[in-house]
Amino acid sequence: MKEFLAGSAGVLGAIIGSFLNVVIYRLPRKKSLGATGRSYCPHCTMTIAWHDNIPILSYLFLLGRCRHCRMRIAPRYLAVEILCALLFVLAYLRAEVLAWNPLWLAFGVGAAYSAISLAAFFIDSEHDTVPNRLTYALAAVGFLGAIGVPEIHGTRLFGADLLDSGIKAGAASLLNGLLGAAIGAGLVMLLRPLAARRLRLRGGHIRLLVASGLLLGPAGALTATGVALALWAVLGVVSWLRGRSPQALGPLLSLGGVAALLYGGEILEFLVRHDM
Ligand SMILES: [Zn+2]
Repeated sequence: MKEFLAGSAGVLGAIIGSFLNVVIYRLPRKKSLGATGRSYCPHCTMTIAWHDNIPILSYLFLLGRCRHCRMRIAPRYLAVEILCALLFVLAYLRAEVLAWNPLWLAFGVGAAYSAISLAAFFIDSEHDTVPNRLTYALAAVGFLGAIGVPEIHGTRLFGADLLDSGIKAGAASLLNGLLGAAIGAGLVMLLRPLAARRLRLRGGHIRLLVASGLLLGPAGALTATGVALALWAVLGVVSWLRGRSPQALGPLLSLGGVAALLYGGEILEFLVRHDM
């Protein structure tokens, strides 16, 4: 049963990933996301038939080319679908570990957060900005997660057991989320003036961490930023060695958020165990 559900989550992820490709292409170009705008080849503008639009499989079958004009389709389309499928499986496995009832809510929150972060990562990487519609959607998911799935922050709040405390778990968890949002925003505001040119942080990134912090809580917001900075430092050395311009921090914040959501507890445990 567990394997079946994990597999179903993967299939759902691939389908959502296919939609995310539309979002990643259209949102920064201010084009409609509505169902009326069918997918078309940006080169020959031919409408893509449903059987050429099956997530992952169609790309492989057509060897990454348009059926009509044989123009190359960006490998990003395949990458987003595979990554989204993978993230949905991980979000399901994480929900299983949380053992939060109802399971579908814990999975839904984790999967939605991962999907939006994935879109933010690719848009940010290409356009150096995160659209407001994505951060607002992320904030809505964060708010829902904070009150609906208190387990997502872990059960402990300031050393006191969250679920045993006198305050109702949902309210305590929301408080935890608001604190995470404040810490997330504070971190970005602190980092911005320190290295504005190197980190390339914008206002959108403050909103991104506010939304993330709501779901991740204070420890999660710190973990997300820490993971992003660690990746940024490693990639910074690599691009310096290759004589390229430094990596922006923004997309890595989205990545760090997903890492904190799926493996926040493990990352903190690892750091504590190694006295870091
Ligand atoms: Zn074409």
